[in-house]
Amino acid sequence: MSITQNLQYIKSTLPEHVTLVAVSKTKPVSDLMEAYDAGQRVFGENYVQELVDKQPQLPNDVEWHFIGHLQSNKVKYIAPFVSLIHGVDSLKLLQEINKQALKNNRVIDCLLQIYIAEEESKFGLDEKELNEILSSDELKNLNNIKVVGLMGMSTFTDNQAQVKKEFQNLKAVFDKYKTLKTENCDLKTLSMGMSGDYELAIDCGSTMVRIGSSIFGSR
Ligand SMILES: *Cc1c(COP(=O)(O)O)cnc(C)c1O
Repeated sequence: MSITQNLQYIKSTLPEHVTLVAVSKTKPVSDLMEAYDAGQRVFGENYVQELVDKQPQLPNDVEWHFIGHLQSNKVKYIAPFVSLIHGVDSLKLLQEINKQALKNNRVIDCLLQIYIAEEESKFGLDEKELNEILSSDELKNLNNIKVVGLMGMSTFTDNQAQVKKEFQNLKAVFDKYKTLKTENCDLKTLSMGMSGDYELAIDCGSTMVRIGSSIFGSR
């Protein structure tokens, strides 16, 4: 199946309220253009250098999401154009994004990454750390960022019951904090689900799926 066919198939299965992020990491610009020509406008990249290289090669109406682990010293490279940063896991990083967004005279939308997997190596906040960030006075002063939702990655396993439990946990945290609306925090987006588990994620309440290999082929 071609990229166009893969995209058409996946889109036909997605409910209207779910946004598809086409994860194009390691894929050539020609693949992204094929997806673009098939109507895809939201792309997700994991590596700052790769994102910075690709961005000027695609049309201007592409919405670029950064979905990888972002180091503070690299925020400045993507701040001029990035439309959503998925994996924010510290107040320090939010502060740096705010600083760079201000320099670019923008407000940058962010998702806080919550740790839901059983694996040791995954990044993210636990609920206590999330609560600390959302209730901190510092957050109120960050006028150039907006926390618009949460993101999570499940354990890499075939155990569907395990993955479901993790998605349900994240949804419960999302529901708990989405009533907490402030000037720069309003949780509307729940980013969970990848090629192998997006249908389950949607069943559990995902509003944004990040799909790479099912669109572009294996990496
Ligand atoms: C690579 C990646 C994806 C996409 O993974 P696929 O299994 O290829 O769909 C989604 N989210 C994140 C954070 C990723 O790094």
